[in-house]
Amino acid sequence: MTVHTKDQILPGMVRVQLWGFRCERCGHEWLPRERDKEPRVCPRCKSPYWNVPRKATKAAKE
Ligand SMILES: [Zn+2]
Repeated sequence: MTVHTKDQILPGMVRVQLWGFRCERCGHEWLPRERDKEPRVCPRCKSPYWNVPRKATKAAKE
């Protein structure tokens, strides 16, 4: 009997932040209205790079 435990990992497990999201820019934390959808912008500072660390953005014009 062979048990493939790796196959039992759900695709949704990559989503670590089950409680909500946190903006990398202003530090704002909020709960998403739709759990299956990532917000496009931060509801507070409206930044589309809310989930991107500052050093990861090469073409940041600030
Ligand atoms: Zn923000």
